[in-house]
Amino acid sequence: MSGVLGIYGKNVEKISQMMYYGLYALQHRGQISTGIAINNNGFIDYYKDIGLVNEVYEEDDLKGLRGNISIGQVRYAFSDEGIDKKNIEPLVIGYKNGALGVAYDGSIANYCTLKEELEEKGSIFQTDLDSEVIANLIARAGKKDIVESVKLVLEGLEGSYALVLMTKDKLIAARDIYGIKPLSLGKIGDEYVVSSETCAFDTLGVDFVRDIEPGEMIVIDNNGIESIFKKKEARSFCAFESIYFARPDSVIDGRSIYLSRLNMGKTLFKEAPVHADIVIGAPDSGIIAAVGFSQASNIPYTIGLIKNKYVGRTFISPTKELREKGVRIKLNVLKENIKGQRVVLVDDSIVRGTTIKRTAQMLKEAGAKEVHIRIASPSVTHSCHLGMDTPSRENLIGANKTVEEIKKGIGVDSLYYLSLEGLLDSLGDRGFCTGCLTGVYPIGKDGKKCL
Ligand code: AMP
Repeated sequence: MSGVLGIYGKNVEKISQMMYYGLYALQHRGQISTGIAINNNGFIDYYKDIGLVNEVYEEDDLKGLRGNISIGQVRYAFSDEGIDKKNIEPLVIGYKNGALGVAYDGSIANYCTLKEELEEKGSIFQTDLDSEVIANLIARAGKKDIVESVKLVLEGLEGSYALVLMTKDKLIAARDIYGIKPLSLGKIGDEYVVSSETCAFDTLGVDFVRDIEPGEMIVIDNNGIESIFKKKEARSFCAFESIYFARPDSVIDGRSIYLSRLNMGKTLFKEAPVHADIVIGAPDSGIIAAVGFSQASNIPYTIGLIKNKYVGRTFISPTKELREKGVRIKLNVLKENIKGQRVVLVDDSIVRGTTIKRTAQMLKEAGAKEVHIRIASPSVTHSCHLGMDTPSRENLIGANKTVEEIKKGIGVDSLYYLSLEGLLDSLGDRGFCTGCLTGVYPIGKDGKKCL
């Protein structure tokens, strides 16, 4: 889970500022670290660090980054890794044919196999990044033309990726053959921008051109833009991006994330109607589906929960003693709206089950007469090996308990998850990876463990 951005520009002065604001718009895709690399006449300079976009870059750092091609990333820390400075992207390397920068979102399913093969041949690794395997493969591909090398390397990659690469004179972007990760192309004047999500285009005043197609690689240089396709598979875009991860003001593969979530809420009401006085959404990810539920049911939508806007990455978990005292650090109830009401609480998903249990308890304590939970996705039952940081199965409540058991454990009057059919109907077609909800993934796990 990361956000990537690339710009092929003409305006050397403003490119680092554009990168900054573009990455700012993609911040929801990763909060652990960020980096910007810029090509200046074949020399790639970069600035990267642990932290949020507005914490990492000072104005002077940005002024020092000049050039006409740039790539950048915001990175999410996977739950099984610590915060490690060596793992900040973009990765910048020098090889026989010059400098190369790589920024990546996704997960290579055959990472350990490829890494081991490279190590056998003498490659040395300094990071745990998938992009370092990609960079090594490109450097060893042995083709004079970088485009040919990248093409060859992509043929051997299994897994999900949205990839942006920069050489001395080219910006290259590629999306995996299933289109599991999002990647779009935009244009402003003569300048091209590629971004994980279109919300960054809106921020930058860039016109959306089109999505990069599943399996497509585009090469942008002084001659313009060239599109290179490799083998095409049935599209399998990550459903969890639509459910939770992507920003609602983004449009991915022609589908508005906002409208998808609104539809999920409407379908949820059709599947599991309930008599109630108010509908509320769990901030922030359940709110749009809650509005959809309200529109379909004619039950008024209102604000029931207030989120502390400043709880962020550096959030210190409360001690057991404080938790037992019931500290409400992230969320609090708006008692004026809840007391004496039959409440429908809509949330996007249940993963471990801790958030919904606490929220439901708070609603009851605030005097809700009834609490009905409606979840705008099917139960999350499988861990994802394709780049979504879903916990392992033993920590997924949906993998270990029935809906009835979960309902009893949370202590609510009713609980309903959107059906898989209902989800796909709301999304508009069947071209989605639903692996975390069904266990069926387009690409299997390469069972190999890295040594
Ligand atoms: P829980 O069931 O306590 O694990 O929390 C689930 C809630 O966390 C969902 O309603 C989402 O809004 C949010 N969520 C889902 N997946 C993730 C994730 N990979 N990382 C952080 N939050 C998530």
